[in-house]
Amino acid sequence: MGVHAERRVHLPGPLHRGVQLVRPARDLHHARGHGRLLHQPRVRGTALSPAAAAVVALLAIEDLRVEYRTARGSSYAVDGVTLDVARGEILGLVGESGCGKTTLGRAIIRVLPRNARIAGGRIAFDGADLAALSEPEMARYRWREIAMVPQAAMDSLDPVYRLGDQFNEVLMITGGLTRAAAREQAVALCDLVGLDRRRLAAFPHELSGGMRQRAAIAMALALRPRLVLADEPVTALDVVVQHHILRRLRQLRAELRLAVILVTHDISVIAQTSDRMAVMYAGVIVEVGPTADVFARPLHPYTMGLQNSFPNLLRPQDTLIPIEGAPPDLLNPPRGCRFAPRCPFAVDRCRAD
Ligand code: SF4
Repeated sequence: MGVHAERRVHLPGPLHRGVQLVRPARDLHHARGHGRLLHQPRVRGTALSPAAAAVVALLAIEDLRVEYRTARGSSYAVDGVTLDVARGEILGLVGESGCGKTTLGRAIIRVLPRNARIAGGRIAFDGADLAALSEPEMARYRWREIAMVPQAAMDSLDPVYRLGDQFNEVLMITGGLTRAAAREQAVALCDLVGLDRRRLAAFPHELSGGMRQRAAIAMALALRPRLVLADEPVTALDVVVQHHILRRLRQLRAELRLAVILVTHDISVIAQTSDRMAVMYAGVIVEVGPTADVFARPLHPYTMGLQNSFPNLLRPQDTLIPIEGAPPDLLNPPRGCRFAPRCPFAVDRCRAD
């Protein structure tokens, strides 16, 4: 990388105004010297971290496509995604709102909206292709093998039932436990996520945002799944509570050997929590790698843009620079690289198919 590896450059001209990039990363993205531009995701080494590569992936997504049918036509919110997650690994999935990350999570657990369907690809989970299972077969995987912490904790909690009754329902009806065993297990789950066990007698509206989020995580862990999809699990919480919950999530994956896909628009949440990260833009993965490597040396201009637009705890004096423009309309995505209309480095070849 040479002596300029950490030098940040300011690019002249209206299109490049305010953009800062690490020069070698920019050059790597363009793959200068090889006469080619790369629209493919920037994957470092194998798709798995070295530790993860040593074991078979728990989840292996291959060329997944999810189609939405609307009155205006079809669009692909997930368009050819290939991604792996190993046992005990936290994979951060980051991108702006509407980039397809929530759709990807919902496709894995097969809870897509009515107008959406898996249009191609495989979702291999411990040997089974979830994309090809019938609904009754898939139902056996939800909660028991794969659970979800939804965007808003209230979405997974029923406002008219006490927390303890809601745990009982999951543990007794889905988990087959007796009432006494369910009660014992609910208390253990509260302890696991750091929620005062006396809160089992409370209604959801009597809990703070942080308590509700811990309850939602406990609910997701109730049947000891091997994979948890956490969709913006700390977005509505203040920074201190966020920090506590993310730290607990890291501890839980170590204690339970849990795999977690952490979906968020906030790249600083990924920095604190994930082992590897995947950056998603307009339905495609544009960069994958160990979190520390991606932060130290981002290879894709969109990743660099995300980094520049969120506060850096180590460099709080840095000016935040939003990514100009908006994600494309997926009903009519741009030709070639989907980031080209917003990319300060786009050249004609980027817009070719
Ligand atoms: S438009 Fe930008 S991100 Fe896309 S291929 Fe070209 S240089 Fe890379």
